[in-house]
Amino acid sequence: MFQPETLNAQLDAVSSDPVRTLIIGAGVAGTSLAALQRKRGRHPVLIERASEHAPAGYMIGSLPLGGNLFHTLDRYGNYLEASCDINAYEMGDTHGRVIRHFGMSEIFAGSGDFRGIDRGSLIDELSSGGAVTFDTTVTEIEQSAVDVAVTFSDGMTATFDVVVVADGINSSTRNLVQRPSDLTTFDSKWGGWVVWAPAATHAEDTQAQDTQPPGTYSEFWGPGRFVGFYPVKNRVGVFVGGPRHDTAAGPAEFGRRFRAARPLSAPLESALDALAADPDPFYWEFVDHRSARFAYGRVVLLGDAGAGFLPTAGVGANMAMDSAAALDDELSRTGPDTVAFALELYERRRRPRVIAAQTNSRMLARLMFRRSRLIAWCIRVMMRWISITAALGGIRKVIERR
Ligand SMILES: Cc1cc2nc3c(=O)[nH]c(=O)nc-3n(C[C@H](O)[C@H](O)[C@H](O)COP(=O)(O)OP(=O)(O)OC[C@H]3O[C@@H](n4cnc5c(N)ncnc54)[C@H](O)[C@@H]3O)c2cc1C
Repeated sequence: MFQPETLNAQLDAVSSDPVRTLIIGAGVAGTSLAALQRKRGRHPVLIERASEHAPAGYMIGSLPLGGNLFHTLDRYGNYLEASCDINAYEMGDTHGRVIRHFGMSEIFAGSGDFRGIDRGSLIDELSSGGAVTFDTTVTEIEQSAVDVAVTFSDGMTATFDVVVVADGINSSTRNLVQRPSDLTTFDSKWGGWVVWAPAATHAEDTQAQDTQPPGTYSEFWGPGRFVGFYPVKNRVGVFVGGPRHDTAAGPAEFGRRFRAARPLSAPLESALDALAADPDPFYWEFVDHRSARFAYGRVVLLGDAGAGFLPTAGVGANMAMDSAAALDDELSRTGPDTVAFALELYERRRRPRVIAAQTNSRMLARLMFRRSRLIAWCIRVMMRWISITAALGGIRKVIERR
């Protein structure tokens, strides 16, 4: 859990640090970087636009790439306690018929654990009592050769050696340092709702059908429909979506049309029940963002603010944590005069990996997010024969940092 702190108190603490750092956004990336820097005895100022008790979000599949960061923080046991084991992946059609079921132990053997965790618990574990100032943003960033002057939303001003912009995929802060043409997007034209379902419903249903034990990621997709189940500790994150042209009808009507294609398996019925039961489900638009650069002098874009991912990647949070570790490393090996150079080194180190993963997720989106029955049929046939290495090879590459 965070320790809410005043901005003044954080500014006092950072004033004698070797590199005075401001981190904007206490999400996955910003909190990871703050925790790593604090482990080194530094006092980065961490601010967050949301208030202290704002809802913290949805389910995250945490790969060794991200989760292994808890070893550095000496909190791996706490992380395991707050998450659940994910050991299998299954794919099926939009009636809920399972086409393939893969055990995932082979994919992760020797590299770490694949865990399901909700974003709030992940951030709680990362923050581990660190300071944050809630309800705060930045309205101006002015760089000089020697420092960065920042104006906060309450009118207060301060100078830093480096500013880390980690305010997520819809970052407004990056507009203070980049030109609009620096930002490009890829629109899959799909989207859908994310809701929570009780773990028991999914586990009981699936066990009754003898198709999967708990700890299984399940994705059912076909022409114009997608349903996914992503367990975390004690509950399951459920995604129900399709082309935005269809989801524009709203969750009730989309669910009604979905049910018209009966028979549906019990898990799929339960997904639609969970969607119907949520009075205000979170809608996720499948549009990604890519910044032409991460480093702008003494300001750097971290996590989704630099490159935000489509769900087909399933790696946004993991990349954010891995990037935070790389940035922490570069910042620990620089002084106030060489910050811009350190950020360039960071960009060279991270950008190829992040962009490769993002490009891969765009390619998958082009393949998966279709309305064509013929293409969906071809993919179903392909699924029957595909090997585990081919199906989950992308994840393996990410883990191996290839
Ligand atoms: C439904 C869903 C499921 C996902 N599942 C996975 C998954 O299984 N695996 C995976 O790896 N990734 C997953 N992701 C992606 C992952 O959540 C993101 O890639 C990750 O959170 C990026 O971290 P971040 O810190 O850059 O952004 P965020 O975690 O979004 O954090 C940004 C923070 O900045 C704050 N903020 C915004 N604007 C301002 C401002 N102006 N000033 C100050 N603070 C601000 C926000 O309130 C937020 O706390 C999923 C995303 C969604 C939506």
